[in-house]
Amino acid sequence: MSHIAYINGLYEPNKNALINIEDRGLQFSDGVYEVIYVWNETPVDYGAHIERLSRSLNELNIPAPMSWRSLTVIIKEVIRRNYLRQGIIYIQISRGVASRTHGYSREMEPSLVVTAKFTAPPSEEIVKKGVKVLSTPDIRWARRDIKSISLLPNIIAKQSALDVKAFESVFYKSDGSVTEASASNVWIVDKDKTLITHPTSRDILGGVTRATILKLARDAGYRISEHSFTLQNMHVADEVFLTGTTTFVMPVVQVDKHTIANGYPGECALELRDRYIQYIKDVDPVMAWNV
Ligand code: PLP
Repeated sequence: MSHIAYINGLYEPNKNALINIEDRGLQFSDGVYEVIYVWNETPVDYGAHIERLSRSLNELNIPAPMSWRSLTVIIKEVIRRNYLRQGIIYIQISRGVASRTHGYSREMEPSLVVTAKFTAPPSEEIVKKGVKVLSTPDIRWARRDIKSISLLPNIIAKQSALDVKAFESVFYKSDGSVTEASASNVWIVDKDKTLITHPTSRDILGGVTRATILKLARDAGYRISEHSFTLQNMHVADEVFLTGTTTFVMPVVQVDKHTIANGYPGECALELRDRYIQYIKDVDPVMAWNV
């Protein structure tokens, strides 16, 4: 079955959905995006994703292409036309189309693309074994809090992980502190069972899954501390795990050549993953769309 995309007012099969060659998203990566998980045709954490999209647009002075209510109508329609029961919705907004020059007019009309993809989170088999991650210097720009479509350092990092059969690359700064991973946030659990993750700042993307896991963990009575940690702290941690929209909660059992604890997925990660899956299943199909 051909996927149906929305692009600037039209619903088209993906192969016919065309972007102007002078779209600034294409020429300058001048745009932002969101990825929203869909379960049973219902978005997970929709309000938080739309809030982050709105913030990313504001930070870059890109006007919203339409009201959030109209965008919601389009997203529902893309889900409907694709019969998307489980997968992701990808939303991309670029500054729009103009003859190529670095400066831009404030009057530009942004381009909006919404696509659907059938995909499942990592299998139980992978989760049961846990994954390996690679460490990589964080060579990204200083505004990682903006969900920009400019992702070259992220894709280079991800590919270098995949090339050595690792699941993710974890970024560290020149001072040795770990920021996040190429497409997920990073957590450790220390010896006294405190969950630690980098605080939200310009250094990391404030993950929507990160925020939900913080809430679920608090509700479950975990001790939590939002502060930065080093690769060395990861090596000696009781547990390491990743969170993200498509990753859910993924236990990490190896960081470079260092085995984490006994080399098996940690119980906090597995428990939080179960709670997260339950949270997704419990999403109310009507309330889910509230922004
Ligand atoms: N950090 C980066 C760099 C990401 O690209 C992502 C997701 O794409 C995340 C963290 C996790 O964010 P979320 O939980 O909103 O998917």
